[in-house]
Amino acid sequence: MVQRIGHVDTIGTDDTHKNETACGLYREGHIIAARFHAVLVSARDALDGEVEIVAGGCNGCATYDIDTGAYIYYVAQSHAIDRLAVGYGTAGDASVTKLEIAHELVAAAERLEVDVGWSGNTDKKIFLGDTTVYDESSWL
Ligand SMILES: [Zn+2]
Repeated sequence: MVQRIGHVDTIGTDDTHKNETACGLYREGHIIAARFHAVLVSARDALDGEVEIVAGGCNGCATYDIDTGAYIYYVAQSHAIDRLAVGYGTAGDASVTKLEIAHELVAAAERLEVDVGWSGNTDKKIFLGDTTVYDESSWL
């Protein structure tokens, strides 16, 4: 479901990415900029392996019940129009590594000409869009 907010095309992800067991912090009707969604999908599709995109209410519930494969996730507490913090990881017998996922997310953003920021540390999230609000010391 594409919806236009101001000059930004957005997409609702309740039906496609919401983790069924997301906690109460998850915002129903959550929308993200379509360009961010395109980066997530492009990265997933470029990776050689099972990678799912999930949205949760917090960092905990987004992925805690994933016990196999790899994932790209975000927290859906407020709409993500200007920026999106993207987490990623693996569980069980994943066929890709965290580093491969991170590199693919950055590459996908560059392919699609979406601003991207990442510290290079696979324990840290990747930021799409306006990354200027974050300084190096506060990389999530
Ligand atoms: Zn939660």
